[in-house]
Amino acid sequence: MNAYVERVIAETKTKNAQEPEFLQTVEEVLTSIEPVITKHPEYEEAALLERIVEPERTIEFRVTWTDDAGKAHVNRGYRVQFNGAIGPYKGGIRFHPSVNLGILKFLGFEQIFKNSLTTLPIGGGKGGSDFDPHGKSNAEIMRFCQAFMTELQRHIGPSTDVPAGDIGVGGREIGYMFGQYRRIRDAYDNGVLTGKGLVYGGSLIRPEATGFGVLYYAQQVFAHEGDDIKGKTFALSGYGNVAWGAAKKIAELGGKAVTISGHNGYVYDPDGIVTEEKLNYLLEMRASRNANVKMYADKFGCEFFEGKKPYEVKADVYIPCATQNEVGMKEAQMIVDAGAKYYFEGANMPATNEAVKFLQEKGVIVGPAKAVNAGGVAVSALEMAQNAQHYAWTAEEVDAKLKNIMKSIHDNSAAAAAEYGLGYDLVKGANIAGFQKVADAMMAQGLF
Ligand code: NDP
Repeated sequence: MNAYVERVIAETKTKNAQEPEFLQTVEEVLTSIEPVITKHPEYEEAALLERIVEPERTIEFRVTWTDDAGKAHVNRGYRVQFNGAIGPYKGGIRFHPSVNLGILKFLGFEQIFKNSLTTLPIGGGKGGSDFDPHGKSNAEIMRFCQAFMTELQRHIGPSTDVPAGDIGVGGREIGYMFGQYRRIRDAYDNGVLTGKGLVYGGSLIRPEATGFGVLYYAQQVFAHEGDDIKGKTFALSGYGNVAWGAAKKIAELGGKAVTISGHNGYVYDPDGIVTEEKLNYLLEMRASRNANVKMYADKFGCEFFEGKKPYEVKADVYIPCATQNEVGMKEAQMIVDAGAKYYFEGANMPATNEAVKFLQEKGVIVGPAKAVNAGGVAVSALEMAQNAQHYAWTAEEVDAKLKNIMKSIHDNSAAAAAEYGLGYDLVKGANIAGFQKVADAMMAQGLF
């Protein structure tokens, strides 16, 4: 391995020993970009890698809120402003009990390269809280969002840091947070958050963007392979925003999503999640107070497999859309055994580094998260552009731009891989293409 890359990985491990997910992504990205580092010895003198693995700023704060019974609760809130070299920090807010600084650093680090890949001027950031929205009333969610934004508002703004949604944060939560920001700042800065409702500055196609983008990217891969989505079966995990958008576009393109999952198991629907009723029910489930994937099985008479993951179902294409590290070696083996040729990451870092390597070695084409799910943040950046113009584009305009962006992401990744003699390796290609632009910007801006 390149000595500089090796040294920075080792130092990062020592400095961040308590953050395994962050170390996992740093190792994955830095080993992928090794040929670029070898080609540019000037990066070492400028300590480029040491700088890129260190967030520009991390903010940690207390969030105090009251439940419906009047009892006070304290959660921890965070914002990681990782890299602003190519634009304002941009990345979602996650509300989930598993959230800690290491998880947000992993997500923020990934976001730097993902945002760069979109071709749009956005830096990398991520935020969230260990608050668990499951089982909370609407009023409790509102009070929590208001308390969270009361602190966060002093650190964000349309040209500094622009958060969006992620796990546990959808349109409703963005609305409550935007309301609180507006109340405190007394300014209609609607470009401060993305994923807003249409009536107050949101963009058409933003809710669908991540899932649609996954399929637009997949279409490019299918075209490269002389293949077609029509008639293919897809195993999805998750049943949230990304899974919904993906299932919807799969149905539109003539494919069939046959599984969805949650923390407690998965549902197998052999007829496919293809009707409007089923697709809309995903939204209903996700918005309900006691959201649980089993509700789908009960409503549509399908089987629910408690405590199991959907990878045991044979499908042509696998698209994880839930959370990190749900695909280990066991699941990767199941995907290979199913004879699947394609694996696209809707969720962020859904597989271990070992599992991704194994899938690639077995000939499965891997579309990596930072490329495949970049459609969400891309349309978020288009939402910022519309807000800045005080104007709104039609759904067709946004959709056409999203398609073009996903094609560019695929083509740039493939070209970067080819340039470094890596064949059609979309994982390394995405890392190289995403990294190069940020590296150029950091080198141009001097030490910071
Ligand atoms: P949602 O909150 O809408 O849905 C999350 C889904 O993941 C639910 O089905 C949830 O099931 C499941 N899930 C969450 N945690 C776990 C867990 N620990 N184990 C098993 N299942 C779990 O989130 P999104 O759809 O927005 O996000 C899904 C993934 O996509 C995340 O990795 C996110 O970072 C990524 N992503 C999202 C984007 C977006 O625009 N929303 C953009 C790019 C990436 P349950 O409720 O049962 O826990």
